[in-house]
Parts: sequence; C-alpha cells; structure tokens
Amino acid sequence: MKVLVSGASMAGPSLAYWLVRGGHEVTVVERAAQPRLGGSPIDVRGPAVDVADRMGLLPAIEEARAHTEGIEYVDTHGRRVATLDPAAYAEPGGRDIELERADLVRLLHDASKNDAEYRFEDSIATLEQDAGGVDVTFVHGRPERYDLVVGADGTHSIVRRLVFGEESRFVRHLGLYVSLVPVDPGLGKENWGVMHNTPGKLAGVYRYHGKADAVFMFRSPELAYDYQDPDQQKKLLIDAYAGEGWQVPALLAAVRAADDLYFDSVNQVHMPTWSRGRVTLVGDAGYCASPLAGMGTTLAMVGAAALADALESGLDGLAEYERAHRPLVTKAQASVSRSAGMLVPATSFGIWRRNQFTKVLPAIMATRHLFQR
Ligand SMILES: Cc1cc2nc3c(=O)[nH]c(=O)nc-3n(C[C@H](O)[C@H](O)[C@H](O)COP(=O)(O)OP(=O)(O)OC[C@H]3O[C@@H](n4cnc5c(N)ncnc54)[C@H](O)[C@@H]3O)c2cc1C
Repeated sequence: MKVLVSGASMAGPSLAYWLVRGGHEVTVVERAAQPRLGGSPIDVRGPAVDVADRMGLLPAIEEARAHTEGIEYVDTHGRRVATLDPAAYAEPGGRDIELERADLVRLLHDASKNDAEYRFEDSIATLEQDAGGVDVTFVHGRPERYDLVVGADGTHSIVRRLVFGEESRFVRHLGLYVSLVPVDPGLGKENWGVMHNTPGKLAGVYRYHGKADAVFMFRSPELAYDYQDPDQQKKLLIDAYAGEGWQVPALLAAVRAADDLYFDSVNQVHMPTWSRGRVTLVGDAGYCASPLAGMGTTLAMVGAAALADALESGLDGLAEYERAHRPLVTKAQASVSRSAGMLVPATSFGIWRRNQFTKVLPAIMATRHLFQR
C-alpha cells in the first residue's frame, strides 16, 4: 500500500518503521522543520520495551537511559521540604526505561528515515476518500492519492479534525496546562527533578546528562488560544506565573527566549472508534492518556506495532488493531485520577499533605504485598 503518515514524533516514525518492513511505501509529513526534540524525560514501559526489542532498538535505548535519583520539593528559598524516591513507587521487577524524549525521538526517526520519505514543514490541507483511495492536498506539496492515511499528529490532529470532526468532541481538558522549555543547566541538579509548588502551580527543573528542562504545570479552566502561535502560549504561561518566587523569574526568562516551547492542556482523547474507511489514528491523535498517565510513549509505540501487525491482513485489519490495543489505552486513561493532586495540589494544605505523604510512601509501598494476593 501507499501510506501517508501525518506527524513525525513517536507514533509516526514507529509506524513508518514497521510499515516499510511490511513492504509498504511510506511518506511521513511533519509540520515542524525537523523532529521536535523538546520535553522532559519519558518512560518506555512494559509492552513498549518488547516493541523496542523487536525493532532492534533496545540496546540503544538502554544506553541512553536517564537515571532519576529522586524528586526534591523545595520552598520559595530553595530549601528542601520533601523528597520522593522513585524506587518507592516503581513496579517491583518492572522493566521501565526512562530516557530523554529527544533521544527516543532521534532513535525512532533514525530507524525509519532511510526507508520512508520524510517531508518536513508541510501539512495535510484536505482529505477526501472513496472506495479506492484517499485524495490528499497539502499546504505546500503537490496533491497525491494514497491507499491509507494515518494521523500520528498528536492531540490537535489535523487528520482527526478533517475526517472525524471538531476537536471539542474528542479532547477532554483535565483542568491543567503543561509547558516545557530547555533552561540553563546551572538551574538544575544532575539526575534530579527539583520542584516548587504554590497552590495550583508547579514549577520545576529536570536535569540529566548535563542538560536541563523547566517544567510548568498549572491549574486552569480551558483557555482559548491558537495552538500554532508560540507567542500566545508564552504570554499565557508568563501571566500564570507572574509574581512567583523561587527561581521562577529565571525560568520565565528562558520561556521568553525559547524557540521550541511545548505548551498544551493536559488532556485525554476519547474516541468511539479510531478508523473510518481508509483513515486511521495512532498515538495521542486517537487516544492521548495525558502526561499524568506517563504512558504516552508506550501507547504510541505499542499502538504503531499493533496497527502494522493488523494491516498484514489488509485494510480489514483496522478493526483488529482497535481490538488488540484498546484494553491498554483504557487502562492508561483510567490511571490518572490521583496524579494531579500529587503533582499540583490546589491549596497550601494540599501541598503540606502531599509533602507528608512522601514521607510515609516508602513504608506503604514496602508493605503493599501484604494487601495483595
Ligand atoms: C515538543 C514536544 C514535547 C513533549 N514533551 C513531553 C513530555 O515532556 N512529557 C510527556 O509526557 N509528553 C510529552 N510530549 C507528548 C508526547 O510526545 C506524546 O504524548 C507521546 O509520545 C505520543 O506521541 P505522538 O507521536 O502520538 O504525538 P506527539 O508527540 O504529540 O507528536 C505529534 C507530531 O505531529 C506533528 N503535527 C501536529 N500537527 C501536524 C500537522 N497538521 N501536520 C503535520 N504534523 C503535525 C507535531 O509537530 C508532532 O511532531 C511532547 C510532545 C512534543 C511534540
């Protein structure tokens, strides 16, 4: 088949890798000028470790592993008020691998870039399908006809909007916004996340391999802004953190200077079905679970492999893709309920209670086997 994939982050390149191996001719169109490398460390979890192994990427992923020693919560003067040890909440015997998002994006792109055609700085403009194919026009490139079009273009997917309808029907705002931006490594502590909370706001810095990223997460009802206008996003962020202490003014200076800011609502995408005719969705475009679930990469990589496996029987396999992958998606989306209260408590009391909780968490986790069969 001649396949068009929209989006070159995690899901798109993973799918491109599998489809070219299945004998398909693959084009990946990406709006940005190159793969977007921003972001804090992400996790490759359980079934995605198996997928990475099948792709031959496991040794490189292991080599890029980032090791988090812990999360340190600090007060406005930078004094430590609580510590969270990742070992306390890790799955016993779990195989999760944490690495910088940029490293995984590069590895996935490298694995497919020689076999699939990548077209950067372009986007699908229109899609029209009939029984025999999908006619696609692009913002810049020449129109073409494909056998299959896949939206791997994230929460604000153009493919989803053109084929399934307005974003508001599928995207659920979870009451928070998140932003990430590279900052001066001197603002961070190597292998640690250092976090500062005030009611309804979190500002922090992760530092690994001598590089640091600021993370912001704040509570807010849904905001109206243009997803493609970084200046609007910078203003919303700067306004939300105006007057905040700790090293927030230095982090906001990095926001002002940033040329690849990541800013989005914390949201989930819920769709009754991921495919319509010759068009389907993979990754956040179809089933974002939100950063609170820590499963975005895993759902994208496992979903891409499940889609490629299902397509071995042709387009009829699209139903099988959904049957095979939906249970993992449902579980991931259901897992976020208490994360916001831990990360961004809404009140001063909530922050105090979270800090106390970090002290008893290791004991709770150490005895949890007593309560499990
Ligand atoms: C810069 C960046 C930083 C991120 N940082 C984090 C993080 O720190 N923690 C976390 O949990 N998650 C982060 N995410 C989200 C995370 O990558 C996804 O949740 C997950 O990996 C699923 O990946 P995906 O490929 O489905 O979607 P995404 O990673 O969202 O990728 C979608 C891709 O599609 C492209 N695209 C969008 N619209 C169009 C269009 N119209 N035409 C062509 N291409 C288009 C985007 O530029 C992007 O490359 C980040 C995403 C990005 C883009």
